[in-house]
Amino acid sequence: MTGDASAALASLDKEIEGCRRCDLFLTATRAVPGEGPADADIMLVGEAPGFNEDKQGRPFVGAAGKFLEELLGVAGLTRRQVFITNVVKHRPPNNRDPAPGELMACRPWLDQQLEIINPRLVVTLGRFSLGTFFPGSMISKVHGQLREKDGRHFFAMYHPAAALHQQALRNTLLSDMERLAAYLNSPEWRDGGKTVQAGNDDEPPEQLSLF
Ligand code: URA
Repeated sequence: MTGDASAALASLDKEIEGCRRCDLFLTATRAVPGEGPADADIMLVGEAPGFNEDKQGRPFVGAAGKFLEELLGVAGLTRRQVFITNVVKHRPPNNRDPAPGELMACRPWLDQQLEIINPRLVVTLGRFSLGTFFPGSMISKVHGQLREKDGRHFFAMYHPAAALHQQALRNTLLSDMERLAAYLNSPEWRDGGKTVQAGNDDEPPEQLSLF
């Protein structure tokens, strides 16, 4: 099963590397499909590759990636244990925000990664990632909260890059990660997926599990 998933992921990577569904490939150096175990329980979804990611073909390898690794450490995780990807697989020129058409064009790749890896938990990093799964949801309202959709858990966080120059946001990210760490240490997570009630913006998931 895992071998099948690894092979499926490797073949998907090749397709992503040749993607021409929008114009971003024209200005990018290469695609950044994502990396991590094909059977990862946790998938982290960021926004789009930046300068360093575009050069190396790997997600979160610059300054934001360093902070992301620090955040993972709070939960006792390393980047090798999780699958890391972005909603957009080619770098937008000058790190501009991804355009709606680019997000839409790239979405099937993320859907296929989710189908192959089937993670129990998706951690969204930033507003574009949050908006991909929960359109209209505001990150300032839902960050640090766990919720469930289509049988999968989601945990929203601010983007680590946003915190690089803002100490307050950095502290928010660290305390949100502590909340996630508490969940990952709970019997509910360890015992493997007891169903929780669905949450939404009006009914914050403080009511769910440990939150
Ligand atoms: N920011 C992202 O959203 N993704 C990366 O891979 C790097 C920086």
